[in-house]
Amino acid sequence: SLNKSAVKTAEVATPKRTKEIIAKYGFSFKKSLGQNFLIDQNILNNIVSAAGLDETKGALEIGPGIGALTQRLAAVAGTVTAVEIDNRLIPILHDIFEGEGNVGIVHGDVLKLDLKQLFEERFSGVTGVSVVANLPYYVTTPILMKLLEERLPLENIVVMIQKEVAQRMAAKPGGKEYGSLSVAVQYYCEPKLVCTVPHTVFIPQPNVDSAVIKLALRDKPAVDVPDEAHFFRVVQASFAQRRKTLYNNLTALVGKEQREALTTLLQGLEIDPARRGETLSLEEFAKISRAFLEVGWRG
Ligand code: SAM
Repeated sequence: SLNKSAVKTAEVATPKRTKEIIAKYGFSFKKSLGQNFLIDQNILNNIVSAAGLDETKGALEIGPGIGALTQRLAAVAGTVTAVEIDNRLIPILHDIFEGEGNVGIVHGDVLKLDLKQLFEERFSGVTGVSVVANLPYYVTTPILMKLLEERLPLENIVVMIQKEVAQRMAAKPGGKEYGSLSVAVQYYCEPKLVCTVPHTVFIPQPNVDSAVIKLALRDKPAVDVPDEAHFFRVVQASFAQRRKTLYNNLTALVGKEQREALTTLLQGLEIDPARRGETLSLEEFAKISRAFLEVGWRG
């Protein structure tokens, strides 16, 4: 089958093979594209197994590099589409995956691609799609927000990212890591840290710590809000100045003339205006958003 032939392809993700491929094609790493290639079998296996793929599923990889992860995805998923921005990698990927019928290479910037169309073209025959990637760290948040905000029919997102960003995504209310990114990710997903990752598993080694995070897409958002954009405006405003109280931050959103009404409204919701944004749960932000809309404060 197609899956077996993928396994037969010579292993890419060893330090030796990676260096050979780089030398063969005269490839030089571009720091500006976040190019840190994985060379560790265990980490690759951890990433792929966290995604829960099988031959009925599709995988979308962002940034295949020289195909270390792509190879393993092709061995377990029914079909893999890998989007790579660097035109120098496209011929390398074509050589490595030539004859692998279940791997498709797309040259492009994932931030500019029409992903809905890509899904229709590539994943119409599968029972579910997950994004699995070792992301370029300079665009982690824009990529993930694009995947989530476009409401793509995704099951899981399993990605290697900067450890600090992973911790922010998974953070619960009350700590300094909890912020608007935590709320945005948790609105759409249930996050789970899979593992932290040492520098030594990459060529070249990044100068930040890394972690693998799994985001399981919820069937419906975590909280019920009539106007999502407004909900996120309330969240953004609440975290705008982290040392200020919720009251102070929200005053900036609704206007000084509403100060007293704001205090009354928060008290009516049993939310102490003196609290900091970082202590509020998603449900409390949702309550505030709903109450603001009821009194016509669109922010
Ligand atoms: N998957 C490979 C691995 O694990 O060894 C490479 C991962 S490397 C961290 C990130 C990859 O994303 C690079 O190959 C880089 O060229 C690519 N990339 C960077 N920006 C991108 C973008 N906007 N769209 C698609 N690919 C991008």
